[in-house]
Amino acid sequence: MNNLVSLTYLDSYDDSKIKSAVESSFSKLKFDTIIKPDMKVLLKVCLPESVQPDSAETSHPAVVQGVVEVLSKLGAKCIIADSPYGNFTQSHLDSVYFKTGMLEVANSSDCELNHNLKIFSMDTPNGVKTKNITLLDVVNDVDVIINLGKIKIDEKLGYTGVGANMFGLVPGEVKTLILNRLSTIEDFNNYLIDIIDALKDKLIFNILDGVVALEAGNSQRMLSCLAMSENVFSLDSAIIKILGMDFNNTIIKLAFERGFIDIDDPYEIVGDDIENFELADFSLYAYDLDTKIHRNIRGQKSYFNTHQERPTIKPNRCKGCTICSKICPTNAIMMKYDKNGELYAEIDYKKCIFCKKCYLGCPYNVVRLKTPLEYKKLHKKINEFNHE
Ligand code: SF4
Ligand code: SF4
Repeated sequence: MNNLVSLTYLDSYDDSKIKSAVESSFSKLKFDTIIKPDMKVLLKVCLPESVQPDSAETSHPAVVQGVVEVLSKLGAKCIIADSPYGNFTQSHLDSVYFKTGMLEVANSSDCELNHNLKIFSMDTPNGVKTKNITLLDVVNDVDVIINLGKIKIDEKLGYTGVGANMFGLVPGEVKTLILNRLSTIEDFNNYLIDIIDALKDKLIFNILDGVVALEAGNSQRMLSCLAMSENVFSLDSAIIKILGMDFNNTIIKLAFERGFIDIDDPYEIVGDDIENFELADFSLYAYDLDTKIHRNIRGQKSYFNTHQERPTIKPNRCKGCTICSKICPTNAIMMKYDKNGELYAEIDYKKCIFCKKCYLGCPYNVVRLKTPLEYKKLHKKINEFNHE
């Protein structure tokens, strides 16, 4: 895979300028020769929330429209897809498609919006962070994937460019489940690389909308940049350079360690010079790979109640043997005395990482796993599809 990255200066979301920038970049990268008539393309846009396009949190509809029109001219059939956070349901998708402008794109051009609500799991034996990923079934309906992300600095995850955009192929409710299990930004980025590696045969092209980017503090910033590459890591490398970030604090360091990119020659620019886009004062969070994933406490509470499979101990059944408190890796289990002076174990869920060691290690089968209804429903959905 080559390391060419096309950068185009775009000072607005003007329809005709975008279309001409897309055509010119496709041609410079010879991507227009890859698209064949009737090829089914999943256009993986960035729609994490139900918000207006001027929030800069989602792929801008003008960019999506420009890409769809150029692909249609080349004969491809596009399906626009993403999974927002929250439950992956038709009503949620409808609201997101409407608010983010994707419904209007579909109504005014030759493309479909994804309405396939099925999900599936696939093994990822080479994965570093996971050996199995759950994805939207629409991946199975298409020949290829084009990854169309947004340049953003996320409060919880730091830089989220084109590699991070692939996380949106994980169904919303499963995303929450995964983020609650991952501990650091390094874990998250290794998880992303696992997804990218698993889909490498289908993921053929990457686009980043940085006409207006999102800085730390959730503020919009003109970057005037539309960037493209067939190589996901080359594209992220170029943008990381533009934003003035240290490679060692990002997904690129991990991609290098895992053999996905040559750190001495990460990208070759075609189109406008990279120096034209570099910003010394783009606002970033001081996150590095060791930074713990910052959790939203309200979201965490609702997630905990609805999805988290968790260990529970009934004090009157506990024999007070203290084994669980000794094997718990986070010291989340305290031994207490009840009113009869009997010792029992109690779990502090603020410290618990849900590793199940206490459940597996209790010699009296006193530790039980509580499975909330939403968790059961989600796993039923995955199992049903995998056994169809
Ligand atoms: S699940 Fe793991 S972290 Fe939580 S209480 Fe049990 S042993 Fe400790
Ligand atoms: S290992 Fe089981 S019986 Fe022993 S203290 Fe823990 S919960 Fe109670």
